[in-house]
Amino acid sequence: MTTISPLIAGNWKMNGLSQSLEELTELAQLLTTGEAPRAVVVVCPPATLLSAVAAQGASSGIMAGGQDCHTEASGAHTGDISAYMLADAGAQFVILGHSERRASHRETDDLVRAKAEAAMGAGLKPIICVGETEEERDAGRAEAVVAGQLAGSIPDAASQHEVIVAYEPVWAIGTGRTPSNDDIAKMHASIRQALVERFGEEKGNSIRILYGGSMKPLNAREILAIDNVNGGLVGGASLLAKDFYTIISAV
Ligand code: PEP
Repeated sequence: MTTISPLIAGNWKMNGLSQSLEELTELAQLLTTGEAPRAVVVVCPPATLLSAVAAQGASSGIMAGGQDCHTEASGAHTGDISAYMLADAGAQFVILGHSERRASHRETDDLVRAKAEAAMGAGLKPIICVGETEEERDAGRAEAVVAGQLAGSIPDAASQHEVIVAYEPVWAIGTGRTPSNDDIAKMHASIRQALVERFGEEKGNSIRILYGGSMKPLNAREILAIDNVNGGLVGGASLLAKDFYTIISAV
């Protein structure tokens, strides 16, 4: 079985002004003065702070990521940002297909897949989000919905690049609710199986599957210990350096 180094990514969403960089400074201090982190650490701030996070994080090993990208490299797309621009600003990762974008910007699996192709073309590692709504879970369709999103959102070219999958049940995001450990284990096992079936044993077993949705200092340790959970995508709890550091240290 391939060993996967865990990864913890913070998704700041549309939060953070320049003073938020003080949290990053505090996180960097915690990471460099405490025990060396056992996880790869990524912070995905709003695009306005990306260069600063990339520059400031470098000395403490914190890597930067974007929260979305366009499918095109450049052009007449007012308000959008391309994968090349993210990379130029110092990003190494980009979150794609977050449920907030799937819902408020009507992003489809096809669009997410095209964005992932663009991201890989620009040298970024896409963090592709999948996850069911509460209604879909209640109807017993969670695994089928996630399987469909995986099949549609991950490009074939992922076989040649590093991609990361984030399982984020929509109903767990920002709600303080999480699936049971058993449900997380079942979903991550089914995602692993789908990845192995599609990309083969070696590649399929090397792709990180993150859990996201109300991961907090208090529940991180047990969630991160579940089989096939190779790290976390953390929203609210990534905004405070101490909380985020506690989660990173729980790996
Ligand atoms: C997210 O939005 O990716 C997320 C996991 O949010 P939270 O941790 O706040 O539930």
